[in-house]
Amino acid sequence: MRFSNLLIPTSKETPNEATLQSHIYLLRAGFIQSVGSGLYNYLPLGKMVLDNISRVVKEELDSAGAQEVSLGFVTPAALWIESGRFEKYGKELLRFKDRKDNDFVLGPTHEEMMVNLVKQSVKSYKQLPLNLYQINLKFRDEIRPRFGLMRGREFLMKDGYSFHANEEDMKREFHLMQETYSIIFERLGLDFRIVEADSGAIGGSGSKEFMVLAESGEDTIVVCQSCEYGANIEAAVCRYAPTQNEKKDLFEKVHTPNATTIEEVCDFLHIDASACMKVVAKKALYDEHSEAVMFIVRGNDTLQEIKACNSINANELVDLSEEELEDVGLVAGYMGPIGAPEAIKIVVDKRLQDASGLACGANESGYHYVGADVKALENALFDDIVAVKEGDRCIHCGGELHYTKGIEVGHIFQLGTRYSDPLKAEFLDENGKSKPFVMGTYGIGVSRLIAAIIEQNHDDKGCIWTKESAPFDVTVIISNVKDEAQYEAGVSVYEQLKAKGFNVLLDDRKERFGFKMKDFELIGIPKAVVIGKKLEEGSVELIDRATLSSKTLSLDALIEEV
Ligand code: ATP
Ligand code: MG
Repeated sequence: MRFSNLLIPTSKETPNEATLQSHIYLLRAGFIQSVGSGLYNYLPLGKMVLDNISRVVKEELDSAGAQEVSLGFVTPAALWIESGRFEKYGKELLRFKDRKDNDFVLGPTHEEMMVNLVKQSVKSYKQLPLNLYQINLKFRDEIRPRFGLMRGREFLMKDGYSFHANEEDMKREFHLMQETYSIIFERLGLDFRIVEADSGAIGGSGSKEFMVLAESGEDTIVVCQSCEYGANIEAAVCRYAPTQNEKKDLFEKVHTPNATTIEEVCDFLHIDASACMKVVAKKALYDEHSEAVMFIVRGNDTLQEIKACNSINANELVDLSEEELEDVGLVAGYMGPIGAPEAIKIVVDKRLQDASGLACGANESGYHYVGADVKALENALFDDIVAVKEGDRCIHCGGELHYTKGIEVGHIFQLGTRYSDPLKAEFLDENGKSKPFVMGTYGIGVSRLIAAIIEQNHDDKGCIWTKESAPFDVTVIISNVKDEAQYEAGVSVYEQLKAKGFNVLLDDRKERFGFKMKDFELIGIPKAVVIGKKLEEGSVELIDRATLSSKTLSLDALIEEV
């Protein structure tokens, strides 16, 4: 293709709303255009990259035996009501009505739709297993759309769903998808890590995320330095010993004026933070009701909210306002489990299970207890609700755990019968008995991958596309198009490279050479052939975008080298 015919509106200006390198470069290099918060148009270059990624995804899934379908984006709400998610999904789900007052949603994910498709056409175990996927639009009314394609409201996802006669077969497919996803991300040239993930309210026996390693990633992942263990902080676990408290005070209430933080209490009582109970009070939301919950961890630990939420099977945890705290009978700064109103649920971190001689708030302004015994807390639940810290020990090998940042580009899930049960999607087994399909579900953030590739592959000049994602393999830059010899040589090299099967961009614009080089660096095509002054000696330059190193080659040698 010729640059002069293409719509590639490059720009020098850094767009106001963009802070992340990938967002800035994708806008500046003319890959995408902003339409509104979390909404983007893809310009020709952006569409090429999107198609490249989709092609890699499709090739690998097809070769793993999955079949592509395409489901409606506008989804009747009835299916969502049946699955119980119409209410539960929250504000990310865009709900609307048609002219006849029927409810609809814009699909944020398609479990219900796919189960419905299969329910209507699969009746027997003989038609199983089945893995159906689509590469299609999704809409989520994200609370904070940001970072360009990284977290959009409308975005492109590959979503796949597999259907099986039993759990064992579903697990086989789950492993096959894990391998297939790995091949996809390797082909796209990404440095990624597979980590254990939170299965959340959906339950099921396990889920894994594919994380592209990047400083700018929104997810914190915990990785072991000595073995393969890696987990999203939301799901990470570690080895720990029960808390042994050396200094054991006798149980009594003490006056602790103005000591409302863990630090102030520890200073005042001359104790270590690990000998102190820290209370985090939250409102837990369930399908039909809500309740106040006190989560108790050691003073030196941090509550992990997702783990805390899972410990009580709530849908969500939200903060309690000062008024709500007062209403349930808690005193901010002096909250504690002893003497707290009975209606409040208490969940204590496992590290504290047998600890004694601890300090905690007395639920009275200006007072704490010392010498408290966790065993005396009747009705308390115990669970692992603490965020793993750097330096904690790996549950598998004892190695040291560290934090790193990642971008979630894929998520695979052992779903079981979470959707087939409520939607009554059943098949007849070998004995003619009706059974719900056992399912797996598998997602890839196709449009997010565009941003993830650039987050991992850029420099201070612009994008550096990986081999399979690049919009073109090589660009031929004619330094001065008015020079007839240069122009003819440029077109000839362009034609020859095309004939060899390369996807080539000919920069034949009537612009200064420096301007064209800047665009080459910004756009990030892996290689450039520069047809310039050296042509008089029969040679041209080959530039590698990643290293910006250049080689002078004869015209004949060039084609070989590319
Ligand atoms: P996140 O935790 O980043 O919000 P998620 O866990 O809600 O993502 P899934 O439901 O697992 O997302 O969706 C599958 C994939 O779709 C994700 O792994 C991610 O790559 C992509 N994705 C999810 N939300 C967005 C979004 N708002 N914009 C772009 N891609 C997204
Ligand atoms: Mg996910």
